[in-house]
Amino acid sequence: MSRVIGIDLGTTYSCMAFMEGEKPKVIPNLDGLSTTPSVVSFTSTGEELIGTLALRQSITNPENTLYAIKRLMGKKYSSEKVQKAKKNLPYKLTEADNGDVRVEVDSKLISPQEISSKILGYLKSCAESYFGDEVKEVVITVPAHFNDHQRQATKDAAKIAGLEVLRVINEPTAAILAYGLENKKNATIAVYDIGGGTFDITLMEINEGIFNVLATDGDSFLGGEDFDNRIVEWIINDFNEENGVDLSLDKLALQRIKEAAEKSKRELSYTMESEINLPFIFSDKNSSKHIKKNLTRSKLENLTKNLIEKTFPYIDDVFMESKIEIQDVDEVILVGGQARMPLVKKMIIDYFRFDPVENINPDEIVAAGAALQSAILEGTMKDIVLLLDVTPLSLGIETENESFTKIIDKNTTIPTKETMPFTTVEDNQRRVRVHVLQGESEKATDNISLAVFDLLGIGAAPAGVPQIDVTFEIDADGLVKVSAKDMSTGRLQSIKVKSSSGLTENKINEIIKRTQKTNSQVEDDDKT
Ligand code: AMP
Repeated sequence: MSRVIGIDLGTTYSCMAFMEGEKPKVIPNLDGLSTTPSVVSFTSTGEELIGTLALRQSITNPENTLYAIKRLMGKKYSSEKVQKAKKNLPYKLTEADNGDVRVEVDSKLISPQEISSKILGYLKSCAESYFGDEVKEVVITVPAHFNDHQRQATKDAAKIAGLEVLRVINEPTAAILAYGLENKKNATIAVYDIGGGTFDITLMEINEGIFNVLATDGDSFLGGEDFDNRIVEWIINDFNEENGVDLSLDKLALQRIKEAAEKSKRELSYTMESEINLPFIFSDKNSSKHIKKNLTRSKLENLTKNLIEKTFPYIDDVFMESKIEIQDVDEVILVGGQARMPLVKKMIIDYFRFDPVENINPDEIVAAGAALQSAILEGTMKDIVLLLDVTPLSLGIETENESFTKIIDKNTTIPTKETMPFTTVEDNQRRVRVHVLQGESEKATDNISLAVFDLLGIGAAPAGVPQIDVTFEIDADGLVKVSAKDMSTGRLQSIKVKSSSGLTENKINEIIKRTQKTNSQVEDDDKT
């Protein structure tokens, strides 16, 4: 029987694990490392590099080295977040016909799903070489705050990589599963998860083997990358003031600064001062300029403190939603690489008034939880009876005057479904249009448009007579499904759903075929 693996597809690093008996174990990549950079690079000779090798290309080949792709998954090109991210990325972003974001490499447009699939495909091959056997099934994690588009995009990436997703599980939930199993006690736990690109806060109760998520909230565009960018801006502004040169226009310089900034940031978690040394960062006919400056821990804290402050309203919100008090929390777990920053820990202690749990590995715990989830699905975990997660966002429809009517509230336990009756407003009306949205704003246009569908073939009848019950479902993966029933005939109504985002089934199959063709070509080339 082929093994199921758990994958934490991170913004900056990814990690995978499997169940060895009753314990999760991390699977090393081909370099023997427990985490793999989530980076893909296309070289000038047409080679495709993934992971550590790709990361090494980021200075010499910045325009074709793609990192932090997770931030673009399931996003619209015109969204404020993508436009902001674009300014700091050395590679080119552009818009697909359906408004989704695409990466442009060598005049080819590539979807974030396809790029992520390359990372997943690489992880799959590492796991296969580790086991000496094929790996087909996976439990994959996503930030708790990912919406339907982002979850679907992650599933599509796995499909392109040849992996069947048994379950999509929220990263903080996975972390608590792994922690809770190890520590085996009844407790209320808060997980503060700040990785490379996303932030989530989750409250969970563990009671006699039932893992129950009480509430979750967060920002899918707040993470370590933003901390790096603050340092980059500081360096670039100082350089501009001193030399009258804007280094942000020079892709190579920008990438070198970014790497140095991230390295310094990491160092400052353990030291009070770090030197940023970038010789020959700028040269023209007359002279060469260098950057040599010190970044102190307190300067870093000044530059980034308000990013950490941005997370606190979300924490307030989960307490409000779950109706529990801070003093009810027994433990706080810090997850994600950015949580290693001492100021994060200090501000968490100030908020909760006690120390967070220390003995966990923030890089591996999420993948370990994903592996555990696979065992729960197989029914082989006797210590975990049930895992109850919640939906991070409300689901509803557009109603009169562009307002948003909620059908399923955020933090409802999933899977869940709600049914709503629809009727006609005109005599002999044959179709009704329904616009499905996800979000919290009362204004429809401020929420994420998931799909528009038409209820077709409504029988001729006076206005208000037909009754069609539309059922909105959120499955255990947090994905939305819609179905409809004509109550006069009892027949299932046909629904024509037009997703406002994502890859179509045809497009996914086309990419799979293309990938298989490239792979078999590489194998043939290897043989010759
Ligand atoms: P993750 O997505 O959990 O792998 O987190 C990656 C993020 O954590 C990146 O932005 C890293 O720069 C950041 N990070 C990793 N180690 C440290 C550290 N020691 N101090 C501060 N940030 C770190």
